[in-house]
Amino acid sequence: MNLSSPPASSASSHPLAPYGWDAGWESEFAPHAERGLLPGRVVRVDRGQCDVVTPGGVVRADTEFVVPRDPMRVVCTGDWAALDPEGGDPRYVRTLLPRRTAFVRSTSSKRSEGQILAANVDHAVVAVSLAVELDLGRIERFLALAWESGAQPLVVLTKADLVADAVGLSYLVQDVETTAPGVPVLPVSALTGDGLDVLAATVAGGTSVLLGQSGAGKSTLANTLIGADVMDVRHNRDVDGKGRHTTTTRNLLVLPGGGVLIDTPGLRGVGLYDAGNGVGQVFAEIEGLAERCRFQDCGHDSEPGCAVLAAIDAGELPERRLESYRKLVRENQWIAAKTDARVRAEIRRDWKRKGAEGRAAMQAKRGRWH
Ligand code: GDP
Ligand code: ZN
Repeated sequence: MNLSSPPASSASSHPLAPYGWDAGWESEFAPHAERGLLPGRVVRVDRGQCDVVTPGGVVRADTEFVVPRDPMRVVCTGDWAALDPEGGDPRYVRTLLPRRTAFVRSTSSKRSEGQILAANVDHAVVAVSLAVELDLGRIERFLALAWESGAQPLVVLTKADLVADAVGLSYLVQDVETTAPGVPVLPVSALTGDGLDVLAATVAGGTSVLLGQSGAGKSTLANTLIGADVMDVRHNRDVDGKGRHTTTTRNLLVLPGGGVLIDTPGLRGVGLYDAGNGVGQVFAEIEGLAERCRFQDCGHDSEPGCAVLAAIDAGELPERRLESYRKLVRENQWIAAKTDARVRAEIRRDWKRKGAEGRAAMQAKRGRWH
């Protein structure tokens, strides 16, 4: 019987293991290792270059490779790269390992091309403040964005200390759970420490990002996870290739309790992305019902045989869910329209039809009143 240790153990003792290196990355990297290339994870991107943490320390590298000007081909924080083992400063990134997940922003510019904000994220932690009234629609958007990236979302209800009674808190958790099928919902308080151990244990298994509105408590959560002031921890002292100590600012941090946190300015300001598939996952029950509508292109408006409207009538589907679904679908169409002329034409036709209907309705009303 062969009792030699499995290959996973070599990945877990690898110097990059705290950065998320595992048996999967090791086998992806194997052909590059054969070519003598060095593995590394991108911890920061700025001014067309990046900092990559390698087994020997942080090195400076170029961000563009393979296909220049293709934004999907530009290195971003969280990427695993294969670098030249030595040489110039910056080094060349020879290739990237295929991304497991990616957060993509459709830019607000006219040329609506995606911009990668973070790669290889396992957990998307959506911070939602309990200090203000829950906005379930907003939570749904963040969840759509998270699902679209490929990461597993987790809703963290922050500032739980501000909700005095436990029953009230459990109702809020239930509300969010109903809105977020398949998503864990965790109330936490940075003040009392409630829930933080569960959060730390969750994020310990992989790479996480914090999403959420400004004021939701993201910085506070980051600080508690890191166990110190983020800005201090971010300024790591590294030994560069020439043996000098350098100070680098990182957007990818190793957590003391295990796991990695990516926190880039782009992710902080995140709004709604092109989340077509994500919408379907957030509204799985609506899309499920829609399959039973009589018409395949049912708008769930007033069509005969509409299974979605039937579910609302039967009290099985809250009307608010359908409204959020419509809104999210509309916004996704809007983003898609920036690139897709066909969708643009469809939307214009829809506006015209709605405009005509609106005018007709107004005239009918006037007719009644006068
Ligand atoms: P960010 O904008 O999402 O990074 O939010 P911050 O982390 O800056 O937090 C916004 C505000 O909420 C700050 O004034 C924090 O002190 C406060 N805050 C954060 N977490 C908690 C908490 O658990 N309880 C209470 N009461 N306040 C909190
Ligand atoms: Zn329908």
